[in-house]
Amino acid sequence: MKNFIILTITIIVSFQLLAQKEDSLMLRKIYDEVLVQGECYENLRSLCKDVGNRISGSKNAEKAVIWGEKLLQSYQFDTVFKQEVMVPRWVRGEKEKCTLVNGTNNIPLNTIALGGSISTNGIISANIIEVKSFDELEALNSEEVKGKIVFYNVPMEPKHIRTFNAYGGCYPYRSKGPSEAAKKGATATILRSLSLKLDNAPHTGTMSYEEGVNKIPCCAIGTLDAELLSKQLITNNNIKIELEMNCKTLDDVLSYNVIGQINGKTNPDKYIIVGGHLDSWDIGEGAHDDGAGIVHSIEVLRTLKKINYTPNNSLRVILYMNEENGNRGGEKYAELAKNNSEYHIAALESDRGGFVPRGFSMDGTPSQLEKLKSWKPLFIPYDIHYFVKGYGGVDISPLKNGQTSLIGLVPDSQRYFDFHHAPTDVFENVHKRELEMGAATMTSLIYLIDKYGFE
Ligand SMILES: [Zn+2]
Repeated sequence: MKNFIILTITIIVSFQLLAQKEDSLMLRKIYDEVLVQGECYENLRSLCKDVGNRISGSKNAEKAVIWGEKLLQSYQFDTVFKQEVMVPRWVRGEKEKCTLVNGTNNIPLNTIALGGSISTNGIISANIIEVKSFDELEALNSEEVKGKIVFYNVPMEPKHIRTFNAYGGCYPYRSKGPSEAAKKGATATILRSLSLKLDNAPHTGTMSYEEGVNKIPCCAIGTLDAELLSKQLITNNNIKIELEMNCKTLDDVLSYNVIGQINGKTNPDKYIIVGGHLDSWDIGEGAHDDGAGIVHSIEVLRTLKKINYTPNNSLRVILYMNEENGNRGGEKYAELAKNNSEYHIAALESDRGGFVPRGFSMDGTPSQLEKLKSWKPLFIPYDIHYFVKGYGGVDISPLKNGQTSLIGLVPDSQRYFDFHHAPTDVFENVHKRELEMGAATMTSLIYLIDKYGFE
């Protein structure tokens, strides 16, 4: 009996070692393919240069859909299809103008309207009142704010090692700052851009107006201009800003999610999906946000097909439309998946830039998280070490059902907000090798989920 137990244990351990060996060879093969013959960098160049920036509902977004469909077809996946989705259409109009008038000279400030803002309807000329927090705004009486432009000068907190936490701290000033200021009678708001870098690239991003509150125009200025404005306000409280913005919201437009699929051999009706968002803001080229996530995700399926891996489950790459100002694509995908009773094992998203990958964050059950962590040793040779409980991503968030594990690729975040939603988010600011490391890391994870499941 004792010998039998020893023999059984030996056989189990041998099988585990064999599987580990097989997995580590497979990961090596995946990284080799992406690092030596990868196509994601060239695909990103094409998306950035041949299509360009692509806000939902625009001609360029339409071009991006065609671009994505063609590219997926060129890889000859089993199926390529689109899902119809109605998306919002917000247009910036002519370039915004913002001038600081201090009585001595007029200083032009590099300004950008926040996504969703109304226009200034001509030129607004008003005094400025600076606040560093909502508490400061709250402490002011309405007479002090009425008719003025509220200037939210709230720098991202540099103490956070993971810069998304610093972003999270400032995000409310962008999203609900205009309505909060309007409640006090403000005429417009100016936001210090959400970036840790000191430069004059203004960063846009979505905002929304609170129901029943007067809508006022809102824009952002670069961090250097924010410092300049703040400094001038110390010695001169009669500074005026002249602001002109022509943005508006038009009717919704028909657009699409674009999907490529490799059919599973054992469980064709079970899905593992990987994706990013195809739309971007209407400035720069949407290179890190989220061109990187798009080409990462396409590279996952391309690579697995190229190395002749036959998946057990069906694998999908999804190019979601309209993450930036609505998430209609993500919602539509989840709605159709539910209507069609599609079982999703896991959803992986890349929407934190094309920087060197550190690992993954997962929104899943404790046992799914344990399983994810058990694969960590396989990734150590590639310097991938971060496997934590956390957020998956905006596009995949509507799939949350307590069963599907939602996973986000976590790249190094130090420089992400230098480029996020700014004119500087261009192809040239994405590093080929860092981008490829991200794609190989995602491909490896999809392989492991496909092989071992996530039950
Ligand atoms: Zn994004």
